[in-house]
This record gives sequence, C-alpha cells and structure tokens, in this order.
Amino acid sequence: MGFFSFTQEIAIDLGTANTVIICNDQVVVDEPSVVAISVADNKMVAVGRKAQQMIGKGDTIVRTVRPLKDGVIADFYACEMMIKGMIKMIPHHRQLFNPSIRMVVCVPSGSTEVEIRAVRDSSDHAGGRDVYMIYEPMAAAIGIGIDVESPEGCMIVDIGGGTTEIAVISLGGIVANKSIRTAGDALNQDIIEYMGRMHNLRIDEPTAERIKINVGSALTELDESEAPEEYVVVGPSRVTALPLHIPVSYQEISHCMEKSIAKIETAVLQALEITPPELYADIVKNGIFLTGGGALLRGLAKRLTDKITIQVHVADDPLHAVARGTGVALKNVNNFGFLIR
Ligand code: ADP
Ligand code: MG
Repeated sequence: MGFFSFTQEIAIDLGTANTVIICNDQVVVDEPSVVAISVADNKMVAVGRKAQQMIGKGDTIVRTVRPLKDGVIADFYACEMMIKGMIKMIPHHRQLFNPSIRMVVCVPSGSTEVEIRAVRDSSDHAGGRDVYMIYEPMAAAIGIGIDVESPEGCMIVDIGGGTTEIAVISLGGIVANKSIRTAGDALNQDIIEYMGRMHNLRIDEPTAERIKINVGSALTELDESEAPEEYVVVGPSRVTALPLHIPVSYQEISHCMEKSIAKIETAVLQALEITPPELYADIVKNGIFLTGGGALLRGLAKRLTDKITIQVHVADDPLHAVARGTGVALKNVNNFGFLIR
C-alpha cells in the first residue's frame, strides 16, 4: 500500500466473544466484542477491553452491550459502533483522508440471507466500500493452512462464545454443516448456576470466565502435567451477603459443564453422520481440527478423540485461526469463488 493509496484493506473476524482485525497479515486489533454506551445520551464511551472492564460495574450510568449473540448481530446500532471503534484502533489508520476500505468479514455458516445482509449493512455503515463475506469454518480451514479447494475433505469444529460450528469442507464449499448454540458462553452459564446452587455463591460472567480459564476441564481425570491447582473464588453469599472464599477443583467444574460438553460431542457425531463416505474416509485419515477459544479447554481434544475414535487436533493459535484465514481471503478476493459479495 503506497503513501498515496486511499484504499485500506482489512479482514475482520466479528465474533460473539472477540473481534480480531488483520491488516497486511498482522493481527492489529484483538479485543472482546463489547461496547459501553452512556445511558444519558446513547453515545459510545468505550469499546473492547475497556468496555469489558465496565461489565456489571454500573448499569445505570454505562450500559455494556455485546452486539452479537449466537454468532449473529443482535444489536445493530451497537454493532456498527463497535466496528467503527475497532477500526479506529488500527495503528496508523488514516482517519483524516476517510479512505475507502476493502473488507472481508466472516459470517457463521448457518447464516440466513437476512443475517448476512445485517453484517454487510453494519460493515458498509462502518466505512466499508468493497465488502466481501466468508463463512467462518471456511476461514478457519484456510487459517490453519488447509487447501480448501482440493477434493480432499476436512472437518473443522469451531467453538466460539455463542456457537459451535462444525463443517466438512471440500472443493471450495461446505459439504455438511451443523451449528449449535452451545459454546463458551454456555459453559460460563453452567459455572454461574453451579456456584450458586452448590456453594451459595453469587458470581457474574467475568468471574465464571476466570474459573473456566483457570480450572475448566472437559475430563474429570487429567494427566498430572495438565491438571491445574485449585482456584479460589471470592464473592458474596446468596444467603447472608457476606464474602465467601470457595476453592474449586477442575473435577467439580468438569462435572458442572458435563451436559454442555456432551452436546458438543453429539453435534460432532451428527455432522459425521451426514458426511458423504468418501469425505468421511479423508477425515479419518487427516483427523478433525478444533479452532476457536473453546478448543483451549483442557482435555477436550482428548475426550473427543476417545469418544469418536478419530484423531482430534487443536489448531495452532486457535483463537486467531478464523481471522488469519479471513486475512488470506482478503488477498484472494478475485480468486476465491466461494466469497459472498
Ligand atoms: P468468538 O469467535 O465467538 O468470538 P472465540 O473463538 O474468540 O469466540 O472464543 C471465545 C470463547 O473461548 C469464549 O467463550 C472464551 O471463554 C473461550 N476460551 C478462551 N480461552 C479459553 C480457555 N483457555 N479455555 C476454555 N475456554 C476458553
Ligand atoms: Mg469465531
């Protein structure tokens, strides 16, 4: 991009939990998908990490919104503000010249036309002049280096905040897919509910997230090298409102998330059921790839491998796989026939 060029090219992974922007193959923005809006005048006061820190800290003054729910836009106004705010965070973004922006944005594979339209409108309003879209599992596969246009089939399981998307890809298309609304957020809800029911402890989403990261596990028995120490959760008692200090182990957190993890397992099996046999054989040979933040859950790949008896691999840097693939698509807008205009 020369000095006098007025076109900026960006790839956006607009996730329910995190938004990642890639420019010239570099991750330039990686922020939680949250905006904070002033209740008094409905203006955006913060976006990303700064907005996330305001969650639950004063809803009558500043309202925090996650504009995406279950992978699709739930609040248009907030989403537009969020995209604009994140674009402004790109280092050296030329605000003065109001450059025209070429964008590739990803959308969940199960998106309806209306949902795709919503992403396009938000991107247009945020300054995109030349907007393309790509299905998320396709982007994830490209991001982990798979040749999506080859006849060889591959299976991607992308576990994000709102949805788990499972897709079989071959010849530049999604041949089979299954999407469920059970993913990272559902696990956090399981933890909130469990801490209340079992320990009388009242906690919010950010604490549940910390518990999951520190002692979350898909297995009740982990190898010693992987097993985390107990984690002490502090919060108010639901009964007395006095502070409680509750140590939790990975075993109990694993139990409380069991039902949700079993749903993810079942969804993978259902996707395999609808996979054409020739592609199934490729998947058995190459394994299944886990992407998205949920791929980082301790013991998950092992649990799925044991259950499905096909090797399940965690992609390198799973939180950025979709964004990286979207970045590759940005450079190939004229070659990749599967992009949506
Ligand atoms: P999205 O694409 O929906 O924005 P991401 O792929 O960014 O989602 O993943 C975010 C999800 O991954 C969140 O629900 C978060 O809690 C979860 N996550 C991130 N790190 C871990 C981890 N180490 N263990 C378990 N879950 C994790
Ligand atoms: Mg995602």
